[in-house]
Amino acid sequence: PRPPYPLRLDGKVVKGFGRGSSELGIPTANIPLSGLSVGGHEDVDSGVYYGWAGLSPSKATHQHPPQTQNAKYSHLSSPLQETLSSLATEDGTSEKGAVYPMCMSIGWNPFYKNTVRSVEVHIMHHFETDFYGSHMNLSILGFIRPELDYVSKEKLIEDIKTDIEVSGRSLAREPYARLRRDPYLLEFE
Ligand code: ADP
Ligand code: MG
Repeated sequence: PRPPYPLRLDGKVVKGFGRGSSELGIPTANIPLSGLSVGGHEDVDSGVYYGWAGLSPSKATHQHPPQTQNAKYSHLSSPLQETLSSLATEDGTSEKGAVYPMCMSIGWNPFYKNTVRSVEVHIMHHFETDFYGSHMNLSILGFIRPELDYVSKEKLIEDIKTDIEVSGRSLAREPYARLRRDPYLLEFE
């Protein structure tokens, strides 16, 4: 069944297999599988979603290199690049943490022989350092597509770039943009 939105998940950013950055050029912050069961969302569909991610203050502040911020998204259309920079600068970074636009996948991990799923979040923002150990609160606002099998890495990367574009456009719309201020996103223990 499709979840009612927003769908909330949270967890500590942990080490994955390091494939995101090295193989795809698109880092994904992994949170433990228990993040899913804690939220009581075991039945959520596998696939790609978009929403907002709140990061705990430890590492989330101090990262606004103004020029390089969206260098990674130079392949995207220029209206979208503008959208992404406006989303990135209105993040309300404070002592409480910061909220960023994100695109994420919930999927079966073949390594675990399909018994558990993983949650991987690409934050649409340029970070100077990694942020393993930070706490991440996710407010998932919409579903983009189901999980697919790929014949090539290039096809996969192409689809991820489309997912990022769709996420950015959706989050820029007022009903979604407004939800960036959801207090849940910056509630850390
Ligand atoms: P892993 O397999 O350990 O998840 P990745 O290659 O997917 O490794 O890289 C993810 C890590 O990179 C995150 O845990 C985070 O610390 C860091 N990182 C840096 N920039 C981003 C970003 N824009 N989105 C997600 N993670 C990022
Ligand atoms: Mg990852």
